[in-house]
Amino acid sequence: MSAELHTLAGRLNSSFPDLSPLQRLQLLVANVPGKLVFTTSLGLEDQMLTHLIFGNALPIDVVTLDTGRLFPETYSLWQETEAHYGRRIKAKYPQADALEALVDDQGIDGFYFGADMRKACCHVRKVEPLERALHGAGGWLTGLRRDQSANRESLEFVVHDERRALIKANPLFDWSRADIAAFASANNVPVNALHDRGFLSIGCAPCTRALRPGEPERAGRWWWEDETRKECGLHVDDATAASANARTTTI
Ligand code: SF4
Repeated sequence: MSAELHTLAGRLNSSFPDLSPLQRLQLLVANVPGKLVFTTSLGLEDQMLTHLIFGNALPIDVVTLDTGRLFPETYSLWQETEAHYGRRIKAKYPQADALEALVDDQGIDGFYFGADMRKACCHVRKVEPLERALHGAGGWLTGLRRDQSANRESLEFVVHDERRALIKANPLFDWSRADIAAFASANNVPVNALHDRGFLSIGCAPCTRALRPGEPERAGRWWWEDETRKECGLHVDDATAASANARTTTI
């Protein structure tokens, strides 16, 4: 199965550049064995994918990780999106025991006081729930874009995530933020009210600030940390997977 997924990832990766985002989603539905899960943080890219999935009744689960620390505007958008499309966005929550132990240990806002504490919080509130969201899935879809940050430039459209034994796909990988915003506007896609207030990449409220003029797109996330370490841990395997994909597809 592992070799088959590897071959499939390479084949999908080669096909994606010539296809529209909807065609990419349809190709995934037709080819990836097992359940497909799209994890959304209700950001601009994610809302475009949700629009395509719900609007075309694609058999893809739309799941969000509710950390308990999201902006009120994000919860409002969640409700608005469900009402707009008449579909439910499924939620995964942190494990109660682990969350209580975390807050006992580091306090309610401990993430400001060291990268290890911040990563511990992201692990309990995001990474562990993500693993449950993907349990049993054959494919994982995300709204990652190549130009969101330097960390993401080396990623690919589709990779074989060997650790989770699934296909991971980024259908908007080559789209620009401007093109996605234009799509959202033209198609009446509900978007987060915070985007108009300088929040481009939106995560948990205590860990996201508005951008200052000229700052890169993800500068408002964990702004107190070293620029090169600013990922929450959801996509840490991607560089390895992309490199393995590249080795396979060039053989
Ligand atoms: Fe915790 Fe901040 Fe990570 Fe959210 S982004 S899980 S509040 S450290």
